[in-house]
Amino acid sequence: MSDITRAQFDDVMVPNYAPGKIIPVKGKGSRVWDQEGREFIDFAGGIAVNALGHAHPALVEALTTQGQNLWHLANVMTNEPAIALAKRLTELTFADKVFFCNSGAEANEAALKLGRRHAFLNYGPEKNEIISTHGSFHGRTLFTVSVGGQPKYKEGFEPTPGGISHVPYNDLEAMAAQISDNTAAVIIEPIQGEGGVTPGKKEYLEGVRALCDKHNALLIFDEVQSGVGRTGELYAYQKYGVVPDILSTAKALGGGFPIGAMLTTDKCAESLGIGTHGSTYGGNPLACAVSLAVVNEITRPGVLDAVETKAQRIRDGLKKINDQYGIFKEVRGMGLLLGAELTEDWAGRAKDFLGAALDEGLMMLVAGPNVLRFTPSLIIPDADIDAGLARFEKAVAKLVS
Ligand code: PLP
Repeated sequence: MSDITRAQFDDVMVPNYAPGKIIPVKGKGSRVWDQEGREFIDFAGGIAVNALGHAHPALVEALTTQGQNLWHLANVMTNEPAIALAKRLTELTFADKVFFCNSGAEANEAALKLGRRHAFLNYGPEKNEIISTHGSFHGRTLFTVSVGGQPKYKEGFEPTPGGISHVPYNDLEAMAAQISDNTAAVIIEPIQGEGGVTPGKKEYLEGVRALCDKHNALLIFDEVQSGVGRTGELYAYQKYGVVPDILSTAKALGGGFPIGAMLTTDKCAESLGIGTHGSTYGGNPLACAVSLAVVNEITRPGVLDAVETKAQRIRDGLKKINDQYGIFKEVRGMGLLLGAELTEDWAGRAKDFLGAALDEGLMMLVAGPNVLRFTPSLIIPDADIDAGLARFEKAVAKLVS
């Protein structure tokens, strides 16, 4: 028995997180066990990270094989897994070139820096403005909290970088009013995740693409949460048929191993010449070997096709629960990125559902105070979906009674 306890967290950790009361120690597929051996069904997937569940054999194999050979080289040397993964990502997407880093925030940081530098080199220093949307989330570095559309994340960290503006999401007129020839880049989540699981409208994303073209601004899609199969396509832009100039990806890209990447075109990539950007760990062989296994598994025949069927199973289950308890105003999202917005009666109480679900043996998420979020493994077995929904119903019944 371990002598590590949850109480010790409060003694030794900076208090920026409020973790649940259990400490998970083992995971397999969509099941997780805590220190006491209690079993949980995982509808959270580490916030849309564990796209292949826990301890997937192909990922364990990739990690252990690479772990016995080569862990790290500085970027003064390249390595086989990094090149292999970049090749695969460029084969599967619009991109010609890849920059590797370690997280979503870093992928966005690279994307935003490239947006500015591309404008600087091609059009001059005046063209430096970045447009983002209200409610968006792009990470926790100073640049990405400044670009993100949720003021609470930058409060007390000012002064923040300038040249950034925010417009309402899914509002093409507002974007048209804000964009100009001084706009270097527009950054958008095709589906806003943290902001409440709100899919972008197709006409909106198409319209923003056209506005960017008109003003020679780069379109950045932040697919940190929506990417790597979550919507049933490898990337959500493929579902919409709207192609960005730059795409940031992380989370599920490593299936639980830290990695991020910025994908872009040959033309844009030229603006990040030697020495302009970098990362010690970016592209390290362990992360890239695992990530290549993730991408190969997710693009196996049948895996992406099953996402919508599994999502429908969850939607059907939530509908049944809602028919009985009337707690949701709306269930929305795309593929296995689902959000259930609570009714006015339950406004602000999303976290209560999280706690009640954990007590019933279900791990799930919120997206803001009013939305429950479901982002399970893309290969969660139907039996685990059904068992998870049954546990969720028990939690709801207890809360409502
Ligand atoms: N962008 C989006 C859309 C996200 O959902 C997140 C994380 O939730 C990030 C960026 C930041 O990623 P990371 O926490 O890996 O830095």
